[in-house]
Amino acid sequence: MPTLDQRLADIKLLMRYAVPPDDLAKATALVEKHGTDSVGLNIFHAFYSYLPEGREDAITVLRLLDRRQGTFLICATTGLADYLYLATGEQAEFLGLFSEGIWEDEVLAFFNLENREAFLKKYGDLSTFPVYVPAHLHTDLCPFCHVADGETHTLGCPVEICPWCGGQLTSCGCRFTLLGKTDLKNDSQLEELLMLLNKKGRLPFSAEEHRPAYPITPLDLQ
Ligand SMILES: [Zn+2]
Ligand SMILES: [Zn+2]
Repeated sequence: MPTLDQRLADIKLLMRYAVPPDDLAKATALVEKHGTDSVGLNIFHAFYSYLPEGREDAITVLRLLDRRQGTFLICATTGLADYLYLATGEQAEFLGLFSEGIWEDEVLAFFNLENREAFLKKYGDLSTFPVYVPAHLHTDLCPFCHVADGETHTLGCPVEICPWCGGQLTSCGCRFTLLGKTDLKNDSQLEELLMLLNKKGRLPFSAEEHRPAYPITPLDLQ
């Protein structure tokens, strides 16, 4: 993964070729607002490296339609149209035109939508959905994998607590002891670990315990 600074620099380079010159200053300011937001930067990168209409365009606003388990459903409004993106801190995927809704059954099911018509009904009026605020600024989300309070972390998130030893799951030795291996190399080992974890019971993200800024202690109220 490139650093956020590298990502930002890459996007700005792409924008020189993708954005109409008159819109460049405003479009750049919006990207810079998301300079420390991996989710937002992934969307900008996806858009400016693949312009959906194949001609100069710029994102003017991002709106948050839904989010679940650290995955964000975001609408990018541009000079030409509104587009749907599915984004995490790792990557962003272009889903198509907002006006046509979501076609992929898997994505519809993930957001509890029965079908494409259900999407179009729920998201009929784009203006009623909030402007997307960078995920890491939300104190109720895991600062690393962006799941919400009470949700299970994305496997590999360094904030997840090990249910066996109470340490940091990504750095404690429990996984090696449990699997009888000195390192984890392949997917089947990870799957085995995931199975053991689910059997034991994974510890969900707790905003109160893991976000120092989240709880208002009685002292703060005095
Ligand atoms: Zn997490
Ligand atoms: Zn452990």
